[in-house]
Amino acid sequence: METVEHKILDLTYSQLEELVCSMGEPRYRADQVLWWVYRKLAVSFEEMTDLPQSLRHKLASVASLSSLMPIDEKVSEDGQTRKVLFKLDDGRTIESSLMLYAGTDSSRERRTVCVSTQVGCSVGCPFCATGQQGFERNLKPGEIMEQVLYFMRAVSAEQSGKGELTDSTRRPVTNVVFMGMGEPLANYEAVWQSIVMMNSKQGPGLGARQLTISTVGLVPQIRRLAGESIHVELAISLHAANDALRNKLVPINKRYPLSQLIPACREYFEKTGRRPTFEYALFQGVNDAPGHARELSQLIEGMNCQVNLIAGNPTLKREFKSSPLKVVLAFQKQLRDSGISSTVRLSRGVDIEAGCGQLRSRWIRA
Ligand code: SAH
Ligand code: SF4
Repeated sequence: METVEHKILDLTYSQLEELVCSMGEPRYRADQVLWWVYRKLAVSFEEMTDLPQSLRHKLASVASLSSLMPIDEKVSEDGQTRKVLFKLDDGRTIESSLMLYAGTDSSRERRTVCVSTQVGCSVGCPFCATGQQGFERNLKPGEIMEQVLYFMRAVSAEQSGKGELTDSTRRPVTNVVFMGMGEPLANYEAVWQSIVMMNSKQGPGLGARQLTISTVGLVPQIRRLAGESIHVELAISLHAANDALRNKLVPINKRYPLSQLIPACREYFEKTGRRPTFEYALFQGVNDAPGHARELSQLIEGMNCQVNLIAGNPTLKREFKSSPLKVVLAFQKQLRDSGISSTVRLSRGVDIEAGCGQLRSRWIRA
């Protein structure tokens, strides 16, 4: 038996073609394998019944389809958020979550997966649970992809259990946000490879607008992202609109201050046509005063962007308490008075915290 192990989900499309060719098979077998993985949600090569038996055996002996093991799962009381703890091959753990949003007149029903991109994170934002754990390692493309696949399989199994249609127009997962553990742009290659697969017609086929990267603002990588052929949505974790405060809240600001970050965000819009979203988590007495709202409006005045205000999730550190709702709404009103519209995400006070450290929430636009 051969000893080399190939993780199918870690391979690019052309690497998978090479693998099947090396087994004496035509290239199109790669498409068939991917069709089984992403459309039929197969968990073994044995299920891939239109592949020759000999190829299925060869693949089963040298390749694997999975490297994540779910070891814990929590569902919020309202059933709309599900968080899963996965064990990786090396015993380390990561979290991912699935968030369900009912459709409205103006928006479609969504099933959004929030993926982790690193074990831990080296940026060290003091209010973030992941940041407090330190950095362990980058995730591989397949480990990122499999978080999505896990929920695709789970949702699909539930839909068919309920006798609901599982036709191709009803995707089990409709959106992916890179907002779990880790800084996606610090693991650029793996994140990008997973995005290419998520977006491809051989993969889950998610549109670029359905994919959102959240970053603390690594300026060179934002510029690189702006030049890519797939124009994903970009969220910037701003949290402060002056350098002194942002240096404390998001320490990478010392390397990439606002005077570099904001032009890179403008450039992102100019090159991709995607309006960046600024995330601003409000912590009581830290960044939620009227002066902070004024600074924020001045910083982004006239920019093509969106603002998401979030009542910060309380953390173990006592200095980071969630701003009360009335303070968040006053902050929003002040932005609106300066001509800046924003969305407020309110924690519903539910029982579980999503992988991204964000509780299940509802939205108010003003
Ligand atoms: N590293 C990336 C993506 C992962 S963090 C980033 O920072 O953007 C995802 C989001 O959760 C970020 O906007 C982050 O600032 C936010 N977050 C982390 N801890 C939080 C907390 N205690 N309350 C509110 N938002 C938090
Ligand atoms: Fe890392 Fe994002 Fe947490 Fe900051 S907020 S420590 S960048 S995961």
